Amino acid sequence: MNMEKSKDLPQPQVIGAFDVLSSKAAKPQAYYDRIKQKFAAERDLRLHYRPEGTAQYTSDLTGALAKYAVDPYGGEITLREAINDTVECLFIGGGFSALLTSARLREYGVESIRIVERGADVGGTWYWNRYPGVACDVVAYDYLPLLDEMDYVPKDHYAKGPEIYAHCQAIAKKYHLYELATFQTTVTSTVWDEAEEMWNIITDRGDQMKARFVICANGTLSKPKLAKINGLESFKGHSFHTSRWDYDYTKADLSGLADKVVGIIGTGATAVQAIPGLGAASKELYVFQRTPSSIDIRNDWPTDPNWARKLPPGWQAKRRARALMDPQLTAEQKAKQAAMSREEKIRRQENANIDYMMRIHQRIDEIVKDKATAEALKPWYMFMCKRPCFHDDYLPAFNRPNVHLVDTKGKGITEITEKGPVFEGKQYELDVLIYATGFEVQKTGIYNQIKGANGLDLNEKYREGIRTLVGIHSQGYPNLFIMGGYQASFQFNLTDMLQTQGDHIAACIDYARRHGYQSLDATAEAEEWWVQEVITHRGKTTRNQECTPGYYNFEGESNRRQDGNYNGGFRQYFTHI
Ligand SMILES: Cc1cc2nc3c(=O)[nH]c(=O)nc-3n(C[C@H](O)[C@H](O)[C@H](O)COP(=O)(O)OP(=O)(O)OC[C@H]3O[C@@H](n4cnc5c(N)ncnc54)[C@H](O)[C@@H]3O)c2cc1C
Repeated sequence: MNMEKSKDLPQPQVIGAFDVLSSKAAKPQAYYDRIKQKFAAERDLRLHYRPEGTAQYTSDLTGALAKYAVDPYGGEITLREAINDTVECLFIGGGFSALLTSARLREYGVESIRIVERGADVGGTWYWNRYPGVACDVVAYDYLPLLDEMDYVPKDHYAKGPEIYAHCQAIAKKYHLYELATFQTTVTSTVWDEAEEMWNIITDRGDQMKARFVICANGTLSKPKLAKINGLESFKGHSFHTSRWDYDYTKADLSGLADKVVGIIGTGATAVQAIPGLGAASKELYVFQRTPSSIDIRNDWPTDPNWARKLPPGWQAKRRARALMDPQLTAEQKAKQAAMSREEKIRRQENANIDYMMRIHQRIDEIVKDKATAEALKPWYMFMCKRPCFHDDYLPAFNRPNVHLVDTKGKGITEITEKGPVFEGKQYELDVLIYATGFEVQKTGIYNQIKGANGLDLNEKYREGIRTLVGIHSQGYPNLFIMGGYQASFQFNLTDMLQTQGDHIAACIDYARRHGYQSLDATAEAEEWWVQEVITHRGKTTRNQECTPGYYNFEGESNRRQDGNYNGGFRQYFTHI
């Protein structure tokens, strides 16, 4: 049913929650057990091929790999004088984290706000990712932040990349964030000056700025990574990473690919969006797959203008508030839940999850005509082990005669020659090779060294495990706030989480200003409490070990309990903050 059209304030989108109370196993338990065994076997196969975990990737895009990091959108770097001044709040990064926190700071009356950004504009993810088909997988009315404040209703149920990028620019304009912003500038060093109670910030443009408060808004998925494949540098054709799309080569309408043999490595969320367009435009397209994504129905539609017109003021805030409310259970439901053992709840969750994944398999069988291709596209893992995808044109793309799936059955491509990738002795000769290999995940201080009160490098502090309070503060780093890092809650709609963090950060800064404090820091006790909270909740399930390797579970490095997200739930996280 078209929920958004039929009701004024429908429930926000919920992904991956299976109702244990009403779920009934559709099949005998032995059926589910057999599928779980297959999930485990597929996971083990992948762990066997790549025991090195996250080390199988590199995001050190320097030397021969430097071309994969170059900004193709910003044009010539504008020459300017080095900046040598002091601001009150400085954001490292100019994506949604910086924008929505700045909006709140403006509401508190903070005037001196600077964004320092590597790209040539604000937008972050939506500045860098312009590949064909780029769009958000979360319903636009939930994902796009500050819709009430901006008096804006998204054009479609799911927003496309250009609309999201334009929304970022509109926020920056409305809140006057361009005035002090510096673009095409990378922060390389952030050092706390204890005597002055100020941060000293150095950039790759020779700037030496000072700021009272620094917000690390460097992004959860903003530094591109490549799989370490033998011979990668030797490829003589054209190649680029999806977050640095080369439209000079492909042309805006992809007509530059009409006579080209194209390869794409990776079948994650980006590839799923890019492949339909690539398939339609390329002479031949080879899709190199290690592990398939789960592809559910998208069913996008344009926003009904009559629905949009009737939305009452503050509708998005109300919608968000609903997402934070506990589910309303009847007395009978509560009693049923209380009577159910933990094992029974887990079993019901898993069975419902398997039923969902088998529906995903069935959809593949219904759409993909070639039986072998259909089999190869089936994901064998629990829902949410890997980033889920929603697309109506991805599976049909494999029915095109020019689109070829090269299924590496969990192994991945291990060799590239000057002509292109090799798999099981077969050379794939390509004109262009596109890397849809993703990003470094949730790291704080990318491109940038952060030194705190005692001169300690943040990475050094984290050597034995990440240590924060609610994922935002780290003791010994006064007036430094971290957004989107580990030890915070994980939300499929990330902007909900970022808004929660941004509201908290703005409130902290306002508190310090109103009470005349020069600096704020977490206590060692509070930090230790939070680290233990994170460890306790991460230890409650065996999901990390059971899932197929992917970026959600550190590619199978299942012992990293302290370094992941807080698993106590978003409502609990929100309450703690
Ligand atoms: C392809 C793609 C699709 C996505 N789809 C979804 C989705 O469907 N739903 C969802 O909830 N989320 C999605 N995300 C996650 C998305 O990143 C977040 O929703 C959100 O945009 C993050 O905002 P941010 O400001 O925290 O980070 P970003 O948008 O990544 O911005 C961080 C910025 O910091 C800059 N930066 C980093 N280090 C420095 C430095 N040292 N100096 C200067 N600048 C620096 C980077 O250049 C970057 O522009 C997606 C991400 C990607 C990559």
